[in-house]
Amino acid sequence: MSSNDSRWSDIKTSKDKRQTIIETGSCVNAISVAQSETGAGAAFDSEANAKPQNPGPVLTCPLCQHNCRLAPGETGFCGARGNTGRQIVNHYAGLLTGLALDPIEKKPLACFHPGTYILSAGGFGCNLTCPFCQNCHISQITDRRMIDRAAARNRRYSPSELVQIALDQRAMGNIGLAFTYNEPLINFEYILETFSLARSAGLETVLITNGSFRPGPVRRLAEYTTAWNIDLKCFSDEGYRSLNGSLDLVRSTIELAAAGAHLEITTLVIPGFSDDEQEIAEMTSWLAGIDPDIPYHLSRYFPGYRLTEPPPTPLETLRRLKRIAERKLTRVFLGNV
Ligand code: SF4
Ligand code: SF4
Repeated sequence: MSSNDSRWSDIKTSKDKRQTIIETGSCVNAISVAQSETGAGAAFDSEANAKPQNPGPVLTCPLCQHNCRLAPGETGFCGARGNTGRQIVNHYAGLLTGLALDPIEKKPLACFHPGTYILSAGGFGCNLTCPFCQNCHISQITDRRMIDRAAARNRRYSPSELVQIALDQRAMGNIGLAFTYNEPLINFEYILETFSLARSAGLETVLITNGSFRPGPVRRLAEYTTAWNIDLKCFSDEGYRSLNGSLDLVRSTIELAAAGAHLEITTLVIPGFSDDEQEIAEMTSWLAGIDPDIPYHLSRYFPGYRLTEPPPTPLETLRRLKRIAERKLTRVFLGNV
């Protein structure tokens, strides 16, 4: 587990509370769920509901660095995608853990339609295991039976239903649809279909992602995505390995996103993990090579999930790193301060 890796050896971690949170069902209520004006729809009818069939082929999921090889009935590292016996799907496609009309700045997107709102949706699971995750109750799935019980209490939204809700919210200042909160790209097929419909309806389409995905699926999503915020959690292979991620894939995703859409980058500054001045200098220098005007967010860390230490990032650390980033980038913002 990542929290036992060397980068975290000096940082105290708390007991894993994921299962307790999921068991009590609070995960599905963690973020206020907007009421659909389309009425209570039928369950989302998709392969995601299919029961595993045996026998069937062992299949490899093509989405991310884990290359999960799954026999029928098995679920991958992210806890959400599994082999139904015919194909690999996200078991929880259309099942939302949150649906809220958020200020666009909250994503964070500082330079994309400022002052507007965006309908933001989240699901279950993630392909990384950050011990500092603020949304661990929905991102870290350790026992699928517990999620299944939570899922049984909630309806699924079809792509067209979700787009209709976004359109209905236009009168409230909504400009589109964002997938966020957990890691959205593990829900690749569902987002692709939803964003295709959303773009046809004239909505903006936003992804908030860790970016640790293969170029093929990222290219497909980029066809329908108008804005991204991608985490760049650190700038070392070792750091990303400690999270079970891939720096190379994140860099590739950033380059692909920058080529065709609005892009902003976020680094959560954690003392001892991502506050090294030289590393921030190298990271921002690389970003400036793509585009010196990429908006860059340095976000303040607070202890949570498995990390009980270190204490919150000192404000002086954030200000110092901002000055370093501003040597290369024109738009640097501090978040959570
Ligand atoms: S998205 Fe999930 S199932 Fe697919 S390779 Fe990554 S961790 Fe494995
Ligand atoms: S990538 Fe994001 S959602 Fe996934 S574990 Fe890390 S902080 Fe949580």
